[in-house]
Amino acid sequence: MCLFDTHCHLDLMVQKGIGIDTALQQARKAGVERIIVPGVDANNWNLIQQYAHEHPMVEWAMGIHPWFVSAESRDQLELMKIRLDQGEDCIAIGECGLDFYHGKDEQRLQIEVLTEQLKLAQRYELPVLFHVRKAHQELLQLLKQYPLPKGGVLHGFTGSYELGMQYIKQGLYIGVGGSITYERARKTRDAVARLPLDKLILETDSPDMPLYGYQGEPNQPKFVKNVLSSFILLRNEPEQTITLMIEKSSKLLFKL
Ligand SMILES: [Zn+2]
Repeated sequence: MCLFDTHCHLDLMVQKGIGIDTALQQARKAGVERIIVPGVDANNWNLIQQYAHEHPMVEWAMGIHPWFVSAESRDQLELMKIRLDQGEDCIAIGECGLDFYHGKDEQRLQIEVLTEQLKLAQRYELPVLFHVRKAHQELLQLLKQYPLPKGGVLHGFTGSYELGMQYIKQGLYIGVGGSITYERARKTRDAVARLPLDKLILETDSPDMPLYGYQGEPNQPKFVKNVLSSFILLRNEPEQTITLMIEKSSKLLFKL
């Protein structure tokens, strides 16, 4: 088994008191080969890069998350540009995106900061990790405007089959996480059952998004194995076909 946790905030897990060595050891025991840690803004880039240097199974991405968009974002985008110019070893841009859940505040700034990151992904030919909430049409529009040479992943997917297909048509993979372990997530489970197998990859979003049965506990990368088990139950293909395809897609997207 060769699993990938394509979205795991190791730095936030540490903040919750989870030891990184133990978490990685347990993940490896569960068959996890690689973990991708997203940037949220310039304040965590150095730390997660250090994790990647210290632990061969860890990779990092550089990005500004919509929750962390601020007056400092323009300077941080400049810094990002400089670091990418110098040949940074991040494997993706992100996480970035749009989150309009809390209303209209900052929407314009979010769009501006995302647009700049899309341009950087184009210029440096990197895949992108996307976060989106209550802004699907706006994000789809931007994806059409700024086509990504190396694609990306819509992380933490919840929604309908039709919505998933719209992103796939824009060249994205769909990041499937713990939400499919909840039977009440009917729409998302139905979508994940029917979306093309070669466009789906797995994640935990640790320490968030605890799986069914683990509510109230911090999520961990080892649980990507449980996400896979739920995923297999939803699909019609043989187990081996599924695991091989997910491995292939994860490696293809992130050039691993
Ligand atoms: Zn995230």
